[in-house]
Amino acid sequence: MKKHRILSIIVLVLITTSLQRVLAQETPTAEPTPRPKPPPVTVIQEGDHSLEIFFDTLPQGRAGLLHVLGPNMISARTMFLDERVQFFPVEGDGLYGFIAVNMEQTPRVYDLPVFILLNDGSTVEIMTQITVSPGGFIRQEVTVAPDRVDLLDPEIERGELARLESIFSVTTPQPLWDEDGFRAPLDSVFTSPFGVFRIFNNTIPSRHTGWDMRAPVGTPVMASAAGRVAFAGTLDIRGNHVIIDHGKGIYSTYSHFSQIHVTRGQMVTAGQVIGMSGETGRAGGPHLHWEMAVNGEWIDSRDFIEMWLPPPA
Ligand SMILES: [Zn+2]
Repeated sequence: MKKHRILSIIVLVLITTSLQRVLAQETPTAEPTPRPKPPPVTVIQEGDHSLEIFFDTLPQGRAGLLHVLGPNMISARTMFLDERVQFFPVEGDGLYGFIAVNMEQTPRVYDLPVFILLNDGSTVEIMTQITVSPGGFIRQEVTVAPDRVDLLDPEIERGELARLESIFSVTTPQPLWDEDGFRAPLDSVFTSPFGVFRIFNNTIPSRHTGWDMRAPVGTPVMASAAGRVAFAGTLDIRGNHVIIDHGKGIYSTYSHFSQIHVTRGQMVTAGQVIGMSGETGRAGGPHLHWEMAVNGEWIDSRDFIEMWLPPPA
């Protein structure tokens, strides 16, 4: 009798726990973590002007923050890994810029020249170097179900990536995120990490361009930050897919939706529900595939939301 009661209590606790878990997934509470501005890791002085660097090395597939300070500045730009980056002003706090490293960039030291244009027409050049370090990516074997094997065609993947690259090549000059910053798109566990070397069905190699999060079909998915919907439609591999432009070359993307709740061109706020998770496209089961791109490079979305970001002007 006693044994029975203990058993039913255990069963009840288990049911309650799993129910709480389901409810937690249905009502995501992923909140941004307000964090203070960290001190720069490196400061390079050039006369009255300085370049602050907020990271030590930049691992493959990561974005890093730069800051320039000094009098009479009109604008600043850099050319890093053949990518031209325009800095943006923050009221009373100089100019900021993001640089990004491709996940396949060879780890070594690269030049980082920063050019500051002053209001008398002259230019201050601050020259430094950035070390790209290994991303520490793991390998995973992935099995794709027979009915979706045709989606393993490398041509389909190439075509889809080209389409995404053309969307990411548009840089909205002003930041579109707001003081709410960036957050995870839902409250759940991360499963497959960013950057994984994947081997599909023992044969086809691929790279994982985002993080996977556990999400039963129909889980509300939130915009990571405020921005403008740059794409809302269906892709072969990513299935029902939403891309949000956050300005300054920063994009977040969300794949395998069962339903899309936004349309292209629509402005969204941080935390706004943009669709319901699902398993459309090349998905082995229900989950959210969450990506971010900065300056046209896939970067670690989870790392990015943990960074301190300058508040938009
Ligand atoms: Zn994924």
